[in-house]
Amino acid sequence: MVAEHRVALDAHRLTAPEVLDRLAALVTQTEADVRVTGHQVAGCVVGVAGLLDRTHEVLTVGPNLRWKDVPVGAELRGRLGAGHRVAIENEGNLAAIAEAVPGDPTRQDILVIFGEVGVGGGIVADGRLLRGHQGYAGEFGHMIVEPGGRRCGCGRIGCWETVAGLRALLDAAADPDDPVRDPALSLDERLGEINRRAELGDVRTLDALDQVGNAIGTGVAMLTNALNPAAIVLSGYFAVIGHHLQPTIEEHLVSGVLAPQAGGTRVEFSTLGFTAAVRGGATVALQPVFDDPTVVAPRSDALVGGTR
Ligand SMILES: [Zn+2]
Repeated sequence: MVAEHRVALDAHRLTAPEVLDRLAALVTQTEADVRVTGHQVAGCVVGVAGLLDRTHEVLTVGPNLRWKDVPVGAELRGRLGAGHRVAIENEGNLAAIAEAVPGDPTRQDILVIFGEVGVGGGIVADGRLLRGHQGYAGEFGHMIVEPGGRRCGCGRIGCWETVAGLRALLDAAADPDDPVRDPALSLDERLGEINRRAELGDVRTLDALDQVGNAIGTGVAMLTNALNPAAIVLSGYFAVIGHHLQPTIEEHLVSGVLAPQAGGTRVEFSTLGFTAAVRGGATVALQPVFDDPTVVAPRSDALVGGTR
């Protein structure tokens, strides 16, 4: 890691152009930091939450951002300069790329489920990202698990993310004026507070974790029946509170999967935290350099010809 910046943003209170302004400023700041250290920028990959038309770099539907048909690629190039190299990817796919370790046989067939307000993810099969027919695979959050339940950000009723997403946990765990429900505060700190309350035995928090653990377990068992991965890697907010959820999820896996011992599918928690998608983006940006190292100029201070 050479440089890292984060901004806590309540995207609902901002328009898409305002969010993109902040994002462009973040890119500019980070790239400047990289150059100051004497490194080069190989590329810029932006992860977006929602359905992405990769050909046109348009976020077709971003249910939790409440964005529709936003040309993220063109808008960012408009802010960063037309020649700026920017690639746009779905953040669930980026998280999956970050978790699939090349050469590790236990990480070639995995499902990565990334939980924040929405629940997305990616499928890696035989070491390769499975995008699906039109590139929209991995939208696990919109499997309908509770007909007649709550309305989802996508407009449907009873999607998995309405019962397994961050909002479901926070709504159950705290009143609306509780700081853990304030989206303008750092998510790490809010989840740290949830963990602290759980460790102190707070009944409301423990009930909320149990409720969300059951909801996650139901979906994880469905996906395991469908795909039998070697591991289901729970990422994003799931990983932060994972130790409270694991026993419940594993019970669902054993009881809800037809194959004996859940077909050998393991439940694991990402160690990459909220940086999973970002690290996946860095992997994608570096790939052309690994494919052809001559695409980057040698550093001016690099040794030439092996002389010392
Ligand atoms: Zn939905």
